[in-house]
Amino acid sequence: HTVYVPRDSAAVSVGADAVAERITALAPLGTRVVRTGSRGMLWLEPLVEVDTPDGRVGFGPVSPEDVDGLLAGGMLAGAGGNGAALGLVEELPWMKAQQRITFARVGVVDPRSAPDYLAHGGLAGLQRALSMTPAEVVAEVTDSGLRGRGGAGFPTGIKWKTVLEQPAGLPRPGQKFVCANADEGDSGTFADRMLMEGDPFTLIEGMTIAAYAVGASEGYIYCRSEYPDAVETLRAAIAEAYAANWLGPNILGSGLTFDLSVRVGAGAYICGEETSMLESLEGKRGLVRPKPPIPAISGLFGRPTVINNVLTLGSVPAILADGAAAYAALGIGRSRGTQVFQLAGNVARGGVFETAFGLSLGELVETFGGGTASGRPVRAVQVGGPLGAYLPVGQFDLPLDYEAFAAANAMVGHGGVVVFDDTVDMAKMARFAMEFCAEESCGRCTPCRVGAVRGVETIDRIRAGDRTQLALLEDLCELMTDGSLCAMGGLTPLPVRSAVRHFREDFA
Ligand code: SF4
Repeated sequence: HTVYVPRDSAAVSVGADAVAERITALAPLGTRVVRTGSRGMLWLEPLVEVDTPDGRVGFGPVSPEDVDGLLAGGMLAGAGGNGAALGLVEELPWMKAQQRITFARVGVVDPRSAPDYLAHGGLAGLQRALSMTPAEVVAEVTDSGLRGRGGAGFPTGIKWKTVLEQPAGLPRPGQKFVCANADEGDSGTFADRMLMEGDPFTLIEGMTIAAYAVGASEGYIYCRSEYPDAVETLRAAIAEAYAANWLGPNILGSGLTFDLSVRVGAGAYICGEETSMLESLEGKRGLVRPKPPIPAISGLFGRPTVINNVLTLGSVPAILADGAAAYAALGIGRSRGTQVFQLAGNVARGGVFETAFGLSLGELVETFGGGTASGRPVRAVQVGGPLGAYLPVGQFDLPLDYEAFAAANAMVGHGGVVVFDDTVDMAKMARFAMEFCAEESCGRCTPCRVGAVRGVETIDRIRAGDRTQLALLEDLCELMTDGSLCAMGGLTPLPVRSAVRHFREDFA
């Protein structure tokens, strides 16, 4: 028998390690316990799965005390389980409704096993890429319609093309870099972490394909220090990849050389901004660089650099393996393919939900999220992290699509959706947005560094009853939007303005 227990840090935080130990101690000799990533149904963690002839049967949530009874009840044969029995995991409505491409292997494979990765279709993308010219690989990514999943939504193929076209130069002839931005600092987002913990080879393969496509020889994964488990898993997977000749010199006999390592941040939100991340990678304080030059032309150590989010790079292997057309067939408008949405906050069923763009916000929150955890009515959702807009239930028919959200003065961002019930004080949330900006501002430009502090004070005066300050707040938001050097100061007005616009009664 084979039993699967997640090692994902969300599952471990609710006792998955103790459950795995208990199963190992009590199960009959010859039972194999495999530690996987999480399927993303966080309300069911620790979710234990067992192999049966029909597929994997799930039990969850399982506590260490349940293990005795479950084993006695026939769990290893997929039987019994009473309240914890879930049936075939792939048939659960939450799983069946998804289109898992980037997350196809997460929760399925042993994330540290190279043979397991191969057995589940790994490396097919890289192998096909290596049979093409770099320009053809770039064209394939362009044709897929893939856009930056980190938040900005910039077309990935165009970024890669710019790097590919940069001439060879100093300090080392032809040196270019590929950097994965894994500084997932947005509130309510955890998909990067779950991919790195649950299927790190997909990120490694995506970065290797990027390296081949643009002519880079070295790569870095810049991971936030708050993710020690992801860092450990990545380092273990990278060591495996070197041993299997998936990294290093002459990868798979193709002549391609690509070296990859992990760098850990020091806890600054702004280091998720790409130029600030480059400064940090170079060993300096995370200060935003003015653009131009863009990193594709002058990035890490002044060399042409591809910087993509973990989910962007993690989508590349499937695009190469199955072709651009299959990926581009999914989605709506200019938002092609899938996004890994993350449901968090006051939500009944939190977790990751990968689906093609176009699903409505309401469907995601109400149908799949199951409404609030408190059982009270949903009042607001914040989409796209702390710099994203607050949307009222009245906008629940908005399709999850970059352009539709932009037209509604909102953003899809990294796909994080945080739910609030009717007890939320939106003036307090607006204050929090300004406070967050004041706390995390890199200090390089005045509209953000000073504006955020003035924003907190202005909202405090409004909350104390001075409504004349609303005009001043609007004025300040306009200045921060137009005058800030980067998205930190430039987008902080988004949550503030949306709170004032949609929930004005809270500012009375
Ligand atoms: Fe730094 Fe804020 Fe200016 Fe961005 S907007 S450069 S974080 S001070």
